Amino acid sequence: MIKIAIVGYGNLGRGVERALKQNADMELVGVFSRRDPAAVQTDGASVYVLDELEAQKENIDVCILCGGSATDLPVQTPAITKNFNTIDSFDTHAKIPEHFANVDQAAKENQTVSIISTGWDPGLFSLNRLYAQSILPEGETYTFWGKGVSQGHSDALRRIDGVADAIQYTIPKSEVIEKLKAGEKMTLTTRDKHLRECFVVLEENADEAAIKEEIVTMPNYFDEYDTIVHFISAEELKRDHHAMPHGGTVLRTGTTHENTKQVIEYNLQLESNPEFTASVLVAYARACARLAAEKQFGAFTVLDIAPKYLSPVDDATLRKE
Ligand code: NDP
Repeated sequence: MIKIAIVGYGNLGRGVERALKQNADMELVGVFSRRDPAAVQTDGASVYVLDELEAQKENIDVCILCGGSATDLPVQTPAITKNFNTIDSFDTHAKIPEHFANVDQAAKENQTVSIISTGWDPGLFSLNRLYAQSILPEGETYTFWGKGVSQGHSDALRRIDGVADAIQYTIPKSEVIEKLKAGEKMTLTTRDKHLRECFVVLEENADEAAIKEEIVTMPNYFDEYDTIVHFISAEELKRDHHAMPHGGTVLRTGTTHENTKQVIEYNLQLESNPEFTASVLVAYARACARLAAEKQFGAFTVLDIAPKYLSPVDDATLRKE
């Protein structure tokens, strides 16, 4: 049995608790939170204060870190890796090299293993871009996101004066994907790849036309996109938009001999982004435990991990199947 601790209990932490129930070779020791355990409602797991984590060192094989990328993980992953094998889903792409270096140092100095930036992007999408680019060196790679909720864009809508609540979906333009797959060569702008659809609840007496204008012209968020704005009631928002779907496509179109066209497509359609991301973290936790047993200490990303380490099935059976 691989003994797991969940550190941080938000959407992702809840997803890990659920994913562990589908993995018979893993056992949840408990959830460790910075908040008062009485305030953390799990699906049944025991909750401890984070300060108690170290005392349970002998009882935990891997900590799955479920904090946020903005401020939690840059501090928590290197600190917790000093005492534990860890997994995180750090997704601030530009800062991954710096995060990797910090965690690698902690892991090597303390003989632990950490696999950072798992999840789907970064994570499975990174892996698929690498496979596709290595196999088809002559070609183009495209990544499309959605349909899915963008947390950052939803927050930007909620900050507008007169907006009571809002959610934003990023939607890939399927007609563009089909043209690329058919071999059409295209130089794509931001506007060509995705459109943005907003569902907005207004405060009483808010000016609908002025708010719509403010949304579609908002720099860095909406001005470079085709943006559709719907005004709906608070009840409709709650009823129709509470799920956290996401997904996307990594597409590589290339040619081999002369003009022989080849297309590689990897597609995810997720009803729950956090539950799926959590399932990826749990599979990589298995790899983490195995690397630790082999004393391969240090930090890793998904690009470093052989696929067989993810599987609960033994090597000989995998070869046979
Ligand atoms: P949340 O905001 O739900 O949770 C983050 C942390 O906030 C938790 O670990 C928890 O820590 C704390 N928290 C949660 N709920 C509350 C609350 N009610 N009051 C106070 N604190 C709370 O984030 P998510 O779980 O949705 O996402 C975590 C990270 O996962 C994201 O930042 C993103 O970087 C990453 N991610 C990566 C993906 C990938 O493909 N690589 C895909 C999706 C997400 P504590 O219990 O200690 O208080």
